[in-house]
Amino acid sequence: MARIVQKFGGTSVADIERIRNAACRVKQEVDAGNEVAVVVSAMAGATNQLVEWTRQVNRLHDAREYDVVVAAGEQVTAGLMALSLQVLGVNARSWLGWQIPLRTDGVHGKARIEAVDTAAIELGFAEGQVAVVAGFQGIGPCGRITTLGRGGSDTSAVALAAALKAERCDIFTDVDGVYTTDPRIVAKAQKLSRITYEEMLEMASQGARVLQTRSVEMAMNHRVRLQVLSSFTDAPGTLVVDEDEIVEKRIVSGIAYSRDEAKITVQRVSDRPGVAAAIFGPLADNAINVDMIVQNVSEDGKTDLTFTVGRSDLDRAVAVLESCRPVVGFYALKPDSNVVKISVIGVGMRSHAGVAKQMFQTLADKGINIQVISTSEIKVSVLIAAEYTELALRALHTAYGLDSPG
Ligand code: ASP
Ligand code: MG
Repeated sequence: MARIVQKFGGTSVADIERIRNAACRVKQEVDAGNEVAVVVSAMAGATNQLVEWTRQVNRLHDAREYDVVVAAGEQVTAGLMALSLQVLGVNARSWLGWQIPLRTDGVHGKARIEAVDTAAIELGFAEGQVAVVAGFQGIGPCGRITTLGRGGSDTSAVALAAALKAERCDIFTDVDGVYTTDPRIVAKAQKLSRITYEEMLEMASQGARVLQTRSVEMAMNHRVRLQVLSSFTDAPGTLVVDEDEIVEKRIVSGIAYSRDEAKITVQRVSDRPGVAAAIFGPLADNAINVDMIVQNVSEDGKTDLTFTVGRSDLDRAVAVLESCRPVVGFYALKPDSNVVKISVIGVGMRSHAGVAKQMFQTLADKGINIQVISTSEIKVSVLIAAEYTELALRALHTAYGLDSPG
C-alpha cells in the first residue's frame, strides 16, 4: 500500500466526460490498495472567465474579493470529482482549502502556503476514503479565502504530498511529460524520462509552462517525487527527481523560452556610484521584478543601461523611471517588447565548459543578434528579437544533440 497524490489540471477536468475519465484513474489507484488524495484544478477556461468577470466589474479590484471569485472554479470540480468517484463505487469526500485547513499568508491573489493540516484527510484514509481537494485555494490569517497565483493547484498538490509524506505526486496534464523544448515549435523535441529538480525549476521559471515554478521549488525542498504525465494516454511520464537518480547525464537537458519579457534601455545615464540604485530601487519599491541586466563602460562619463522586466510590467516600469528622471538624469528611455528570452538548461554545465560558447556560435551562424545575456550555474539565457524564436529554438536543439532520444 502506498500513499499517492494525483493532481488533475484544467484540461483533464475540462468537461464531464473527462472528469469521469480522471475518476477512473483514481479508482485504479484505490483498487490497487493505495491511499489517494486527489487535487483538482478548475475546468479549462473557467478561471480565465472568472478573472475576466472581476475585471469587468472593477479593474482595480480588491484582491480579497478577487480570490472569492476565482477560487470558485475549483469548488465546482472538487464536488463533481467526488460525485463521479461515488458513482464508480469509490468512497470519496471533497475538501475546500478552508476545510482542510490549508493555511496561507495574507497575500491575496498570490498567497504562499504556510501549513497543511492533514488530520481530517488521514482520518478519511483510515476509513478507506479518497480526499478530493480543491486546488489553488487556501485560508489566510484573517480567515478569508486566498488563492495561490495562476497555475497554483500544482503547488497545492505538492504541498499536500509533502504534508502527507506521499510516495508520489502525479501531475496529470495535457502533455505526456516534460520535453527537451516545446514540441509545438520543435517537432524533434524529445520527452525526458527523468529531469532533476534543479533543471525543472529553471525550465519552469524560464518559461516552460508544464508546472508552476513554486511547486517545483517546494518539491525540491521537501524531496517530493513528482511525475508529470497525461491523463489521456497510458504512456509513462517524466519523473522529477534528485540528481543522483539520473545515470545518463546530458550537458544540456532542455531549452526554454519566454515571451513574457520586455526590454528597457536607459540611454546616457551618468557613470557614477548610486545610479543603479537610483534606477532599480524605485522599480523594486513598485514590486517590478528585474531579470537580466547589462551595463556598458563609459568613455565620456555617460553609459547605457539595459534590463528586462515582465511584459505586463513594462508600462508601469516606464512610468516609474520617468518619475525618477530628475534624480537619475538620463537622455531617453527605449522600451521594447518585441523580444524573447531563450535559455539552455542542464546540470551538466557545472562540469563542462563551452556551453555558452556553443549557444553564441549557433545563434551567430543563423544571423541572430544577442541583445542581453545572463547566466547561472546551470543555465545560459539570451534575449533576442521575437521573430527569431522558432529559428533559434530549432538550431539550438540540434546543436546540443537533443534531436534524437538520449
Ligand atoms: N485554476 C487555476 C488557474 O487556472 C489554478 C490551476 O489551474 O492550477 O490558474
Ligand atoms: Mg495548470
